[in-house]
Amino acid sequence: MIILKTIADTQKLLAHSKDNGKVIGFVPTMGALHQGHISLVEQAKKDADLVVVSIFVNPTQFNDPKDLEKYPITIDADTQKLIAAGVDVLFLPSVAEMYPTEASRLMDYDLGYIDTVLEAAARPGHFRGVALVVKKLLDIVQPHKLYMGQKDYQQLQVVRKLIADFELGTELIPCPIIREPDGLAMSSRNVRLTGEYRQVATELSQTLYKLKEDMAILPLTEAKLAAQKHLNSHPLIDVVYLETVNGHTLAPVNDVNQAPNIAALLAARVGGVHLLDNIILKP
Ligand code: AMP
Repeated sequence: MIILKTIADTQKLLAHSKDNGKVIGFVPTMGALHQGHISLVEQAKKDADLVVVSIFVNPTQFNDPKDLEKYPITIDADTQKLIAAGVDVLFLPSVAEMYPTEASRLMDYDLGYIDTVLEAAARPGHFRGVALVVKKLLDIVQPHKLYMGQKDYQQLQVVRKLIADFELGTELIPCPIIREPDGLAMSSRNVRLTGEYRQVATELSQTLYKLKEDMAILPLTEAKLAAQKHLNSHPLIDVVYLETVNGHTLAPVNDVNQAPNIAALLAARVGGVHLLDNIILKP
């Protein structure tokens, strides 16, 4: 695996590969890698000739400086995992490389409705930071295919819009959520779930599974209310949102016939850790 730290070196190497007709698959990450990330790499290995992974803890997407400070950094272990997974290129830029000036941290781009609801409402500015860094990374790597996880459902819709609005010419490949054996969605933040909170966190996925089951026998609003009530009654879970939404627009949906695709999106704080999960209710 080749490790590159500068934009210039990365562009040079990838331009050469493209000239040789190689299909480039790209997996952007913030490191602290787990099997969820590796599943994206595995999918990219199947589709592409050259797999590029980036590790960059992007400061512009953290609305809470404490969250950024606490973000786990495990570069050596990550590097070993990526070598074992057969990654060809690791792009490992510094903050100064990605954001050389104050102005380079700004992006005058309006994501519209999806940047006003759910995770966007809970973390103002978060998706602008995501859009900014993904646009920069896509301009550098110019991959044929981009692999991202459905775990971050709203982020996927943000990136889908970004690619369409800027005509970035990359194919977005959404990959399914990888979970721990007890159902907890894998996340780099899970290492911060200490003691009983780790067990409590399994309530999130269990509630989503139950919501999906209930949907077969109850009207959607009732199934959703039961799920909200269940989580709200838990003393150690602080629900940020649990909503049933149109799978593309993320507008709220209260009836199964209201939208062609429906997903339930959930965020909750457990032991001070912001956790996300979701389930597709109508594919
Ligand atoms: P992150 O390092 O958290 O920015 O995540 C990098 C990529 O990995 C994003 O596209 C995430 O959606 C994806 N990802 C994170 N956790 C999982 C998971 N449990 N299953 C599938 N993809 C994931």
